[in-house]
Amino acid sequence: MVSPQPIADPNANRMRPRVATAAPTDALPDQQQTLRRAARVTGRGYYTGDEVTVELRPAPAGSGIVFVREDCRPHVRIPARIDYRVDDMRRTSLARGNIRVEMIEHAMASLAALGIDNCELAIDRPELPAGDGSALDFVEAIHSAGVHRQRARAETCVIREPIRVEHGDAWLEAAPHPQGRWELHYQLDYSQTPAIGSQSLSVVVGPRRFACEIAPARSFLLEQEAQWLRSQGLGRHVTPQEILVFGQDGPIDNELRFDDECVRHKLLDLIGDLSLCGRRLSGRFRAARSGHQLNGALTVQIAQCCREMPQRCSA
Ligand SMILES: [Zn+2]
Repeated sequence: MVSPQPIADPNANRMRPRVATAAPTDALPDQQQTLRRAARVTGRGYYTGDEVTVELRPAPAGSGIVFVREDCRPHVRIPARIDYRVDDMRRTSLARGNIRVEMIEHAMASLAALGIDNCELAIDRPELPAGDGSALDFVEAIHSAGVHRQRARAETCVIREPIRVEHGDAWLEAAPHPQGRWELHYQLDYSQTPAIGSQSLSVVVGPRRFACEIAPARSFLLEQEAQWLRSQGLGRHVTPQEILVFGQDGPIDNELRFDDECVRHKLLDLIGDLSLCGRRLSGRFRAARSGHQLNGALTVQIAQCCREMPQRCSA
């Protein structure tokens, strides 16, 4: 979608095996967790093209995930909770007053799936670094920082009754999970684009499986969407080698990491969006054609249930 294009490194976008080998097990302890030490992710924001650094720092038990805009005076703290979510095109963003943090979903998914309950993300621009469109940079940062178990017990929002949201032919529902796990199923339908087609996948969220099977899946765009964004002045610095752009015959100047990489990325976004309920989750979530807005609508309802009926949440 973008030119000029740099010389392609044929291995640049392949899954980095050290993520899989460094991944921990899928069990989370009952206690809350934070990072052992700080770690940084740097890169350019996809939409703005700005160079940005985000530092992930340990945080006290009970503090949750909080973004801190350190380029503002005084610093502005924005809790990663659904109350601060604002509608944004093709991404999930938070705002406090007119101060924003944008495209938070891949960082949020990584923290939630790797069992980090408390973390401060200090950032010096409004948009998080996009990396290669996947969550690998954040997973690697968390692995390199290490995980520290805290004294306080983690809180889990347990889905006790079915909840459903829908818009047109897209829908998303949550139901109780018999084993108390956080399980997601996504049905993707791009029948107008045969190179993507229909894909579906289920995943039980856990650190190892997320790091190996979900985190490497990259954002994707159709060629006409990429052209439109470019015409709006967005993502101009990004080449098709750096993000998956689908033409009629498949990815342009790129290779898939998984045959069903698109549905894996939809699961990645869903995990990040649902994590804005502010607690760990237990439930079986099924989604069809759902995007950030519908994911946000369900998260509002889950957070409301937890607030109004705290007995639904295990503390
Ligand atoms: Zn995404």
